[in-house]
Amino acid sequence: MTDAPHASPTAEAAQDGALVLFSGGQDSATTLGWALARFPRVETVGFAYGQRHAVELEFRGRFRAALPAALSAHAGRLGPDHMIDLPALGALSETALTRASEIAFGESGLPNTFVPGRNLIFLAFAAALAYRRGLRHVALGVCETDYSGYPDCRDDTIKAMQVALNLGMDRRFVLHAPLMFLDKAATWSLARDIGGAPLLAAIRDLTLSCYLGETTTRHDWGVGCGTCPACGLRARGWARFVADGPR
Ligand code: ZN
Repeated sequence: MTDAPHASPTAEAAQDGALVLFSGGQDSATTLGWALARFPRVETVGFAYGQRHAVELEFRGRFRAALPAALSAHAGRLGPDHMIDLPALGALSETALTRASEIAFGESGLPNTFVPGRNLIFLAFAAALAYRRGLRHVALGVCETDYSGYPDCRDDTIKAMQVALNLGMDRRFVLHAPLMFLDKAATWSLARDIGGAPLLAAIRDLTLSCYLGETTTRHDWGVGCGTCPACGLRARGWARFVADGPR
């Protein structure tokens, strides 16, 4: 794990500090904006596990760098970024994200991009990091509304993990999934509510959700291949958001 140099958080700030699981995609970027608007101190964590969309991780730095302009009212709350290497997760996963195979939907109805239990593993590492950093809140961008069927994105899973982590670490972590019941159009709308046009533009232009990690084709909803399931969700959500118009 590599950290930027930083001092330990004060006891007062730690009480309300938050750690955001930030992948560089639309959902986690929106969750990061949500956390910055709510908590006085926010740190981020990303995981590298050999996924084919590793380029998404490059977008993390660009989006974080854009936050002082995109969310100027709260960007001063942004603390250090942490990267955790999890090559074992990639080695264990025979999926389209980690192997050079075609993205398809299996008999279970789950896309073969599914990494079994990925969010459980991420949350366990994130909570261990939050423990060490003295951060009480842990936020992630999972959603069960128009997701791809990942069982570890469900509200019940996150609630159960909160109980397990608090028992196993003897802490009172609070897990937040602010997008849980939002569809993708509502997620774009939430970004606009939090940071207006500047944050909306930063999320559109500086995040990547594409399973293929395609970054050369630019659409009105951002960059991506335009045909994979993640691009499809993002594009349809943007179209509904735009059709709804400004409120
Ligand atoms: Zn795509």
